Amino acid sequence: MESRVYLLSEAQGLTKDLLGGKGYGLVAMAGAGLPVPPALVITTEACRTYLRTGQAVGLEEEVRRKMAALEGLTGKRFGQGEGKSPPLLVSVRSGAPVSMPGMMDTILNLGLTLEGVEALARATENPRFAWDTFRRLLAMYGEVVLGEKAEVFEGMLSALKAERGVEADTALSAEDLEELSFHYLRHLEARGTPFPMDPWAQLFAAIEAVFKSWLNPRAKTYRRIYGIPEDLGTAVVVQAMVYGNLGEDSGTGVGFTRNPATGEKGLYGEYLRNAQGEDVVAGIRTPEPLERLKDYAPGLYAELLQVAERLERHFRDMQDFEFTAERGRLFLLQTRSGKRTAKAAVRIAVEMAEEGLISKEEAVLRVEANALPGLLKPAVDRNQAPKPLLKGLPASPGAATGHAVFSNEGAERLAAQGLPPLLIRPETTPEDITGMYLSKGILTARGGLTSHAAVVARGLGVPAVVGAEALRVFPEEGRALVDGVEIREGDLLTLDGGTGEVYLGAVPLVEAAEEALLEKLFAWAEPYRRLGVRANADTPLDAQRARAFGAQGIGLCRTEHMFFQEERLPWVRRLILAKTPEEEEEALEKLFAFQKDDFKAILRAMDGLPVTVRLMDPPLHEFLPPLAELEARAKEGDQEALALLERAKALHEVNPMLGFRGVRLLLLRPAIFRMQLKALLEAAQELKEEGLDPRPEVMVPLVADPKEVERARALAEELFQAYGPIPFGTMIETPRAALLAGEIAPLVDFFSFGTNDLTQMAFGLSRDDAGKFLPRYVEEGLFPFDPTERLDEKGVGRLLRLAAEEGRRANPRLKLGLCGEHGGEAGSVQAVAGLLDYTSASPFRILTARLAAAQAGL
Ligand code: ADP
Ligand code: MG
Ligand code: MG
Repeated sequence: MESRVYLLSEAQGLTKDLLGGKGYGLVAMAGAGLPVPPALVITTEACRTYLRTGQAVGLEEEVRRKMAALEGLTGKRFGQGEGKSPPLLVSVRSGAPVSMPGMMDTILNLGLTLEGVEALARATENPRFAWDTFRRLLAMYGEVVLGEKAEVFEGMLSALKAERGVEADTALSAEDLEELSFHYLRHLEARGTPFPMDPWAQLFAAIEAVFKSWLNPRAKTYRRIYGIPEDLGTAVVVQAMVYGNLGEDSGTGVGFTRNPATGEKGLYGEYLRNAQGEDVVAGIRTPEPLERLKDYAPGLYAELLQVAERLERHFRDMQDFEFTAERGRLFLLQTRSGKRTAKAAVRIAVEMAEEGLISKEEAVLRVEANALPGLLKPAVDRNQAPKPLLKGLPASPGAATGHAVFSNEGAERLAAQGLPPLLIRPETTPEDITGMYLSKGILTARGGLTSHAAVVARGLGVPAVVGAEALRVFPEEGRALVDGVEIREGDLLTLDGGTGEVYLGAVPLVEAAEEALLEKLFAWAEPYRRLGVRANADTPLDAQRARAFGAQGIGLCRTEHMFFQEERLPWVRRLILAKTPEEEEEALEKLFAFQKDDFKAILRAMDGLPVTVRLMDPPLHEFLPPLAELEARAKEGDQEALALLERAKALHEVNPMLGFRGVRLLLLRPAIFRMQLKALLEAAQELKEEGLDPRPEVMVPLVADPKEVERARALAEELFQAYGPIPFGTMIETPRAALLAGEIAPLVDFFSFGTNDLTQMAFGLSRDDAGKFLPRYVEEGLFPFDPTERLDEKGVGRLLRLAAEEGRRANPRLKLGLCGEHGGEAGSVQAVAGLLDYTSASPFRILTARLAAAQAGL
């Protein structure tokens, strides 16, 4: 029969899948000559067989044989002391191929019996240690194998400490711990699950319990959340015990080879004297920083430094390791690649490449592109932050502390006092722009990552958290509620738009990542990038910012955002209300002047680079105040409100997402189309006269039929006659346009895939309402991820591929781009990197897009 149990020395070269992460790390460390207590590894294969068939035939036999070898290596007998020699005790540890911290069970000190305690006490001349070791075994075994609650044992321990009038476990005497052990034994006996006074029975039951722990509910939940396959199984490590609880020259600790928060090179970690295993984590006593060892155990510290060096050289990554010192002697018990913050990840990758530990290409691949936006701005220091009050969606990166306000007026009031406002709204509309502009942070109760609040906040570069469903906002009353906690105007809050977390009060922040490190990383990455990266930018400021991040143009300039500005809204409203051609003409002229200025500023900022302007998209009623507000004002006799109310009612749509917007509006109100395109063409012309190199492109949104494109193109050609042509394109954002791409392509110079709408329409879900159910869909495993955040390659991606292929076939010169939130999400960018010419992302996601595109090329 195949072997399913290996000594560390026999398992060199076996896979992590077979040995589990813990076993794999131990085998590697032992192989590298690091001090590891002898151990055997029972493979995941054995676990799978056991879980499938309910037994593991022949496994006991194999374990006994390898245990004999372990006895040979340690010179001790399992569970039996002999003369001056203590009994061999082992830990039985679980370890899956992927890390599932704390999700499964480990038992220490296994093999001890009442007889063994005597022998251990004799051999170590330390009865207190012996009983301490025994009572720990009884509690762990009682919990993991016999199924008693941990609290029961803790309760008995606390009761005894109370009786003795002491606080620390270490203050209990040998006699106390002996008494406690007998309490435990009697308790287990009484509940019908006696503790086996037989080392072998303990061992086999413990192995079985670890196998079964694969199926415990918290392990299952963890796997579901992290998408870990159910059928991996866990390996079991049976390892000779070393004791950190043997006195003040013993202890246990964890170390990182580099600082996991900052990435700074150097040993970092914690140590607890005279303690065993889980004591460090259990928080009964406070561990001390590893540097303290320099003072009282310099030899041990020096050895740890060496170990860190060797671990990194072997694993070529930052390691998180566990160790124990037994009477000054160091033993390594675990190592794995350490979790780290995004900021640390950049530093570690770059510095490891510079040290020659990894290649530059590896460094590029090691940084998670999606984490980059969070690095460009300060973030909440999670190590120092209290529990968040609230969690919403991370809509715009950066952390901000400010005073709560609930309206434009509130924001102005606070700003006038020199206080930073933080705007809280149920959701935002164009009306809120003043408050958003003045605020240091924006928080909304409703809306997704592409809601008005999110899009505008990113544009303004203001940190924002949106869709915080537990938040209830009462703007008229100037207050908000979260689970009974009331927030009033002026209250201090901190929000982190990179994580979606919101805190009461001011919370410590961490600095943005070092630019020099990012620059190096990008210098290594760029040669591998073939996909162009442009920006979604509607303002000159955004354009500049995007250019600074390396954008190669603008892929989406949303013109309606220009209309939302305060001094322009009245003219947009006049346009909507116009009864005569003269009135319409007057409003359009005003708007023309505004737009031309905007376009000039943006084209100037992007001089020499393409700027794709999307003509008007939203339905007109979005520019009107909400119906309820108009009704109230009309009731008070406000004439303008009355007129607007009438129009608002006429324009009202049950489903505006699928209503009178985009190309539909442009074709039926061609004056708007002409005004916008003329403003763009004239802006470019004037810049050319200044000697600049403007490169405008124009596109129409929401087409569903070639006829619409044909008509729009004809309208454009009228102006091209006067000003000369510019590239003309269409968005592909309805499924029908994707399906008819072959017919549309000959009519245009480029397609820009608007994956926000395309996703909404392909799925038949509205991103503004999806917050109510999508998170639960993902939690329940119905969707693997939120398709409004990450491109659904299967369905939406299929529409994309089809349109790209048929479009190119019909028009070989067709250029293909992607705009929409997916354009700055790493997974989505990688998915389209080989298919399209460029992607377009909001300014703070340009680096993400660039890195992801480079990673796709590696
Ligand atoms: P986890 O998977 O929760 O990290 P481990 O198997 O690593 O569990 O064990 C928990 C703790 O017990 C660790 O901190 C480790 O240091 C300690 N431990 C495990 N095996 C031994 C051993 N053979 N000797 C001493 N301490 C051990
Ligand atoms: Mg554990
Ligand atoms: Mg561990």
